[in-house]
Amino acid sequence: MQFKDLKIMPDIIKALEKENYETPTPIQEKAIPVILEGRDLLGCAQTGTGKTAAFAIPTLQLLSKENAPRTSKQNIRALVITPTRELALQIHESFHTYGQFTNLKSCVVFGGVSQKPQEEELKQGVDILVATPGRLLALMDQKLINIDHLKILILDEADRMLDMGFINDVKKIIAKTPPKKQTLLFSATMPPDIARLAGTILKNPAEIKITPVSSTVDTINQYLYYTDKSSKKDLLLHILENKEIVSVLVFVRTKHGADRLIKQLARSNVSAQAIHGDKSQGARQRALSCFKDKTLRILLATDIAARGIDIDELTHVINFDLPDTPETYVHRIGRTGRAGLSGTAISFCDFDEKGAAERY
Ligand code: AMP
Repeated sequence: MQFKDLKIMPDIIKALEKENYETPTPIQEKAIPVILEGRDLLGCAQTGTGKTAAFAIPTLQLLSKENAPRTSKQNIRALVITPTRELALQIHESFHTYGQFTNLKSCVVFGGVSQKPQEEELKQGVDILVATPGRLLALMDQKLINIDHLKILILDEADRMLDMGFINDVKKIIAKTPPKKQTLLFSATMPPDIARLAGTILKNPAEIKITPVSSTVDTINQYLYYTDKSSKKDLLLHILENKEIVSVLVFVRTKHGADRLIKQLARSNVSAQAIHGDKSQGARQRALSCFKDKTLRILLATDIAARGIDIDELTHVINFDLPDTPETYVHRIGRTGRAGLSGTAISFCDFDEKGAAERY
């Protein structure tokens, strides 16, 4: 199967060729035709298997074919909502990449940074908006964003967007969209109660599930180390001595725990940086970008980095603390083993975490 067999328009094919995408991944092969038909969709596929392109490519194509002129009235036609700022940026970059030979304009808005440049961009007219919910609602309240004529609504990391932390904001956003629109939900995990809720916002949806939902890809080797809480730091230092570990993302439960661990590592002359909710957005983006371009070997993170973030050739993920839910485990380790590559996930488990380890 080739992208052209999916009836993708030449302008997009050209961009995919430039990215060296040779064939569609399974979720792309199944989702793209359904989306091009105009149907609502619940799409589930494992981490790192190309979900972003699965919704971005047909969205770009549908809007290109619509031929509606972009207006200067912030008349957005496609909206992608996502849980973290870093993921919003990454999805926006994907739209930009796949749509570089179309004349569609995409824009990204998220909190933690000045609103002014985002306002300026919106004023120029935007076809596709990628947003985190808080800043989106703030801009909507100020009448700087209008989604009255929205054609396509996409919830990425859909189970997260519909859980307790985000559902109220998402409901407020959906209430401002027109009833007639196409809604697309994508995720690697979908707990049954959230799937029921998802059913209430989709109309006669197609459901595409590639491999069992919430499963991990086979190319990730998973290891579990039982240890005392007090020995976790030394275990980490010991593992980091292995020079084959080219880059490693270390998940820590709390922001405070991440900062403390950075200091402990520094005392052993191991340099690392951390991203978490108490860091400025600039510091978060700088650390992530150094990690992505391999100038930083060790990145510590809370679960803000658990979902969606795509780091080329990330070899190792370490769960310094085990996550609270199996879904978060799936997402965290899914930062490695992406796009068909292999990866290693190592989890530390102390006495208090034994119950969690047995559940995952
Ligand atoms: P995603 O799951 O959307 O984050 O994508 C995971 C990785 O796979 C990203 O680095 C994409 O650039 C890459 N990717 C997505 N689709 C394809 C494709 N058809 N061929 C090759 N790489 C792809």
